[in-house]
Amino acid sequence: MTKPMFEKIALIGIGLIGSSIAHAARRAGLAGRITAAARTAATRETVRRLGLADEVYEHAADAVRGADLAILCTPVGSFGALAAEIAAHLAPGAILTDAGSVKTAVVRDVAQHVPEGVHFIPGHPIAGTEFSGPESGFAELFDGRWTILTPLPGADDSAVAKLKAFWEACGAQVEIMTPEHHDLVLAVTSHVPHLIAYNIVGTVNDLERVTEKEVIKFSASGFRDFTRIAASDPTMWRDIFLNNKEAVLEILGRFTEDLASLQKAIRWGDGDRLFDLFTRTRAIRRGIVDAHQDTEAPDFGRKAAGAKPERKKTA
Ligand code: NAP
Repeated sequence: MTKPMFEKIALIGIGLIGSSIAHAARRAGLAGRITAAARTAATRETVRRLGLADEVYEHAADAVRGADLAILCTPVGSFGALAAEIAAHLAPGAILTDAGSVKTAVVRDVAQHVPEGVHFIPGHPIAGTEFSGPESGFAELFDGRWTILTPLPGADDSAVAKLKAFWEACGAQVEIMTPEHHDLVLAVTSHVPHLIAYNIVGTVNDLERVTEKEVIKFSASGFRDFTRIAASDPTMWRDIFLNNKEAVLEILGRFTEDLASLQKAIRWGDGDRLFDLFTRTRAIRRGIVDAHQDTEAPDFGRKAAGAKPERKKTA
């Protein structure tokens, strides 16, 4: 039998992402053992029932003991405290990484706790769904999606290569960039789109002259797809906006300027301006389908009303 890539993988937090990593690592035989840390008894019980890990602990420090790969899979606002808790228990030579959706703040909060000899390599799988918790994970989540790694200056090349190989074996393609660039790219592609969805769903919810019944009945005209994004986990998304403030505010500034320009085009009947933009945006959609980051199934991939929703690739 060939030796697995890692003897022991520790998952700190085991919701959608942690459990999907467990499934994907098992599928590819990447771990001798998998341990998990979950703060609530209910999640620990689910982990045991689904057999997601060989051992599950309440405290992260217990899960990382002897691990050669530890992955933080909790909301990013909790990373600093968890890193402080596990620091002294990380084995020399181990890789510490994370799945967090922001990177500059994670480097700020985690790097200071990482002991000498432990390789801290921040990461972010660009794959997800609007569901959370250990029961929502599945082995195929990362297949064909991207994982971004943001190694710090002076990072050990062989540790970075090993982590890259890990994600590739989990089905992902890997790109390397700086934490700052990551945060800007994700502000454009994920964070601001989520904020727009949260905002539009909130606005519709506040409208008094349109009844809730009408909103639900006629939601297929566009609103429905915003509601799917706006159903994403509130804690995770609160932490993302609090921790990617600068990039999100920069992109939001551009967005509001462009929105004002569209408002003007509508007010002054400038159909050419609207038509030109809508033509360009259609081409972007084509590019996403061509890059296999979504299907071109009509009606946003839904087979029929009530069918299981297509998996969203975000965060
Ligand atoms: P999730 O399904 O909500 O699971 C979160 C896990 O973190 C649960 O095990 C939860 O424990 C634990 N947790 C929450 N707050 C904690 C705290 N303060 N201290 C310790 N543990 C805590 O979340 P997820 O979707 O897997 O997201 C995990 C990470 O991946 C986040 O950093 C997120 O930004 C990133 N990410 C998410 C997506 C996505 O689309 N969902 C995509 C890429 C990356 P209990 O169950 O015991 O409460």
